[in-house]
Amino acid sequence: MQDDQNRKHILELTAKADKLQSQKEMLLKELNKTEEALQTTVNMYSRYLPPILDYIQDQNSSFTASLKQLSTAIKNGDPKSKIEQLLTRVQTDMLKDTNEPTGQKGKTSFLSGLFKSAENGGDYLENLKKGYIDLVNSLKETIDSAYTPKLNQIAASIQSADNLDTITKLRDELFALIQQYIYNLGADREKITAFVKEIVKRILQIEAGINNSYEHTNSSVQSSEEFGNLLNREIGGLKNSVNVSERLEDLKNHVSQTLSSIEIALKEKNAKDKAVKIMSEKSRTDFQAGFSKLKKELDQAIKHSKDLETKLNQDPLTKVYNRRAYIKRISNEMDRFLRYQNIFSILVLDIDFFKKVNDTYGHAIGDKCLQEITKRTAPVLRSNDMLARYGGEEFVVVMPETPGDGAMVVAEKIRTSIEKIEFIYKNDTIKMTVSIGVSQVRNGDKSHETVFERADAALYKAKSEGRNRVAMA
Ligand code: GH3
Ligand code: MG
Ligand code: MG
Repeated sequence: MQDDQNRKHILELTAKADKLQSQKEMLLKELNKTEEALQTTVNMYSRYLPPILDYIQDQNSSFTASLKQLSTAIKNGDPKSKIEQLLTRVQTDMLKDTNEPTGQKGKTSFLSGLFKSAENGGDYLENLKKGYIDLVNSLKETIDSAYTPKLNQIAASIQSADNLDTITKLRDELFALIQQYIYNLGADREKITAFVKEIVKRILQIEAGINNSYEHTNSSVQSSEEFGNLLNREIGGLKNSVNVSERLEDLKNHVSQTLSSIEIALKEKNAKDKAVKIMSEKSRTDFQAGFSKLKKELDQAIKHSKDLETKLNQDPLTKVYNRRAYIKRISNEMDRFLRYQNIFSILVLDIDFFKKVNDTYGHAIGDKCLQEITKRTAPVLRSNDMLARYGGEEFVVVMPETPGDGAMVVAEKIRTSIEKIEFIYKNDTIKMTVSIGVSQVRNGDKSHETVFERADAALYKAKSEGRNRVAMA
């Protein structure tokens, strides 16, 4: 019986212990929650108190005094009701401060202090300024140096700016400058596109920096129920006095508006470039077509002129130079002799009894004989010598830098090589000989005619002495 009672008692105690255990676990959970909440609270304090303290250090106003009281109350662990009362006073004093014209500076420093509290540790306004100054500096390296003075001026103004309005205005100035640069840029499409892409990327980075900072601050405000309400009231007050969200929204709108106008400018520029490209492509094709046509015409003209020159200077039957070319050449040689005493010699060659050849075999055969004689003569000559048909069955050879005895040797070579020719016509063998008169230019000779006359006289001599021979005068 006693045992039964004891067992019952033990069961009751066990149930009680279990109940206590679950109560303990519940309490532990609540403790954890409270600790978590406390940690959040501590975090919020540490996040938002430093900027407030910065502000206290910077300012000397009724707002400062209220904050000092609040700070002391928090440190002393004063009751919640007292802290709440002090917070209301802080808010009232702050609004009073920021609404006073002299409190203008305070607004910005409070704002920058607020943003300074963001975990990235950077000062919002300073980061924004740095972003734009970096952009200006890289622009200075990229774009025409004509823009440098203006860019320097903008950079200096950004540097000394202490509020968002000024930065916004300066940023608009910067965009206007960039647009002007793009419009004036004579560079190709790829370059402009790359440049604008880079600028847009940099601006988006700066803008992303602003948004991160803002969103971070904003989400921090909402992260704690307890401090959220307090700070929402604070932010609410700030919104009314300095229009934080409107300013940020404005800034965002400004940035996107300006980006849009850059985009429009780029589109216009692209369209213009495209038109110019099409035009230039067309004119290039036209030019190329015109150019090849012109080149063809020019080639034809050159060929025509060469043909004409050849015709003018060539004997059509034998294809050696004609009398006109001979006169030109011997005139030049005479000039060189008169000016520099450069000597030359000439040969005058006449076919012996050629009339007989024509009479016996016909004029056509006579022509073939003339062609054959020039063919045989040419190889005996040097490249600088000139063989020309003087007329009928008479030829001349001009030999620059050649004295009379040298000319005699050449003349003899010609004579013997022609002597050896045997034309077979039907059953007959036609043989021909030539007589050659040689003359070297001499001191006292005034013109090439004198030299020719002397050579002609020598030819006459060769003829009279029996033909098929060379004579010099
Ligand atoms: P040589 O000079 O030895 O005194 O006697 P030759 O018979 O050659 O005399 P000449 O100079 O009087 O005769 C020149 C002849 O050359 C006259 C003409 O029939 C002939 N002849 C001149 N030009 C041409 C030509 O272009 N073709 C042909 N087939 N014969 C021509
Ligand atoms: Mg003759
Ligand atoms: Mg003759």
